[in-house]
Formats: sequence, C-alpha cells, structure tokens
Amino acid sequence: EEEQTESTKGSRVQVVVRVRPVLPHELQHEIAVTCSADGNRTQVSLPQRQGDKELIPGSNRCGARSYKFDACLPGNVTQSELFETCGMQELVEAALDGYCVTIFAFGQTGSGKTHTMIGPRLSRSLETSSSTTDSSAANAHSDASEEDGLLPRCIQSAYCSMQQRQQAAEFTVTASCVELYNETVTDLLGKDKSKQLQVRKDARDGFYVDGLNSVPCNSSLSALKAMQRALHLRHTRSHKLNEYSSRSHCMMTFYFNSKEKLGAEGAEGGVKRYGKLVLVDLAGSERLKETGNTDRDAVRETGCINKSLFTLGQVLASLSTNSASGSRPFVPYRDSKLTQLLWEGLRGSGRALMLACLGPTANYAEESLNTLHFASVAL
Ligand code: ADP
Ligand code: MG
Repeated sequence: EEEQTESTKGSRVQVVVRVRPVLPHELQHEIAVTCSADGNRTQVSLPQRQGDKELIPGSNRCGARSYKFDACLPGNVTQSELFETCGMQELVEAALDGYCVTIFAFGQTGSGKTHTMIGPRLSRSLETSSSTTDSSAANAHSDASEEDGLLPRCIQSAYCSMQQRQQAAEFTVTASCVELYNETVTDLLGKDKSKQLQVRKDARDGFYVDGLNSVPCNSSLSALKAMQRALHLRHTRSHKLNEYSSRSHCMMTFYFNSKEKLGAEGAEGGVKRYGKLVLVDLAGSERLKETGNTDRDAVRETGCINKSLFTLGQVLASLSTNSASGSRPFVPYRDSKLTQLLWEGLRGSGRALMLACLGPTANYAEESLNTLHFASVAL
C-alpha cells in the first residue's frame, strides 16, 4: 500500500482537509464535523444531508457520511503541524529543484482559507497600517509567529534552503501576484493595478498572463514585502466592494530560477532550472442562494466564481481519471481563466496540493459536504 501511494504521488493532486476551530461567537452552535480519532488522521465525517441517500451512497446507519483523504486535520492542529503534515518542506524543495508546485485552498467563505494560506499576522499588519511601510513589513518579518500561514512559512523555508544550496547553484527569485475577479485578471504587483490583463497561450510554454509584472526578491524580507504590498491592495479593494475578497481568486507566485555552478559536486555546471511555487487563495465556494444576494452584479460574480470553480472540478476529475487509467482524456482547461492560470501546476508534471477547508459547525454542514464532494473528485 505504501508503494502505491508513492507511485501516484507525483501525478495526482494531494488532498488535505482542514477543519478550523470553533470561534468564540460559535460556541452555541452544534459541532457537525468529526475527524477520525484513530491516529491515522485520514478520515472526516459529516451528518448526511436529508433526502440525499441516492446522491451520497455509502452512508452508515447513523446517517453520517465519511470521506478519506491524504490527511484530515481537526481544529486543534497548529499552523506548523499543518505545514509538516502537508509535506510543505518537500514541496518547497521541489520548486527549488525546478518543478511547478501549486497549493490551493478551497472552501466556503469563513472556512479558514486565508488563515491557512496567509495567516493573521500578514493580514493584521495590513489592517493596522494605512500604507505598507518598511517597518510593518519588518515587523511582519521579525515577529515570525506560530499563527503564520503557508505563505510566510514557505518564504522562510525557501530562503533557508537556497542558502544551503548556494555552493551548488545560483538562484534568482521573483514574485508575482494576480487577482481573478469576474473572469478578469489584474496584476496586484503591476504598475497599473487596475489594468485588465489577457491570458494567452503559447505553443511551447502554455498559458501565461500577458504583461504580468514580476518583482525581484533578493531576500526573504523583500519577498514578504512584495506579497504584503499585493495583499494590501487586495484588502483595500475588499473594503471598497463588499465581499470582494471572498469572491476573488488570489494567486501568489514565486519563480525560482537557478543555474548550477561549475565545479559543484555531482553537477555538470550551467544547468538552468525554472521552478515555481504557486499559492492560491480561491474565492468562496458557497452557492449564490447562501448569500441571499440576488442583484445582477452578485449573480454575475457568483456565476464567474462557480464557472471557474466548476471548471477546476472538471479539470481535477479528468486528471484523476487520467492518473488512474493512464489514458489521456480531454481536460477542459480553456473553459475558465482560473484553470488556464493553474494549467502548469495541474497538468501532471508538477506537484499539486489542495487544502479543503471546513467550518466545524452545523450551519456550515451543507457547504462542507459540497467541499468534501469537490475534494473527493480530485482523488
Ligand atoms: P476564508 O478565507 O475561508 O473566508 P478565514 O481564513 O478568513 O476564512 O477564516 C474565518 C475566520 O476564522 C477568521 O476570523 C479566522 O481568523 C478564523 N480562523 C480560521 N482558521 C483558523 C484557525 N486554524 N485557528 C484560529 N482561527 C481561525
Ligand atoms: Mg479569505
């Protein structure tokens, strides 16, 4: 069984479920999600939806539905345990080795995606400073905290590893950050941040964002600052337009270009590698009816979110079939900007990890089932 996991690891998407803790204002709510207590931490259960017996087969007598994933982490799991369980160190090394590594968080608004991908320290420093000053970034840098999400942890771990590799290779790091809202792409680190960018396809390199700016990151601090600038802009936009951040996808990319040094042990010298680490905070996966908002803009927004997330689901499903059968079914990347942007990370040559985020309480249960269903399609 161990071997089978190994052999499929490179091709399929790894799926880790994370249940966030109950928040202080939720204490009166019933808990709906349970993660297995058997030490394996691979199973998650939810009460079955009423009248859904045919849609969701395999429920047990208590009316609970269980799913198995690579890992299922309950609310008391810390950010560093999450980093560990997801094998993030190894994924960061893979990006430095020249692979495209993609990590994306899926789940309804309030399920913990941003907390998991970014963490409160970066968000807090954005909220308390009207402009992104050096000192707020420096504070964000020096106060490395247990609450840090994947973004600052990955930066930390990448620069640490590059330092260890400096005898063997010379690295150049740049970063970009795009926001995808209503099928329009804007560059959060660009010169003109409101300009709409086009996604194009190149015969050799595949899909790319035309005119996307990438900024040099010579240190972990400059990498952190760059992302902080981008996230600050996202935050500002979300204040201007209600629900903006929950309706937009945010894609943060680090490019690790390296050149092997001559005379390095075991190296031919001069070999160039182009690795990428892509962190995606996806839009909320909830359906329109949940928001109670029916005006035309909201319908358009949710239509776009659902279209891109729906297409993502289809792409994940066909990749999963692909890796199981070894055949090459049609993968509908073209159907949304999101899947075009994630193309390189999902086509099977790189590594991809989905974090399926769940709220723990009963009021989240219906959307949580949708999230688990979506996630199980990727397996
Ligand atoms: P999303 O981005 O999916 O809308 P957030 O990341 O904003 O959700 O999380 C919703 C709320 O729950 C926030 O107040 C956040 O601080 C809190 N939260 C989420 N995950 C955790 C966690 N693991 N530990 C503590 N608080 C969390
Ligand atoms: Mg969020």
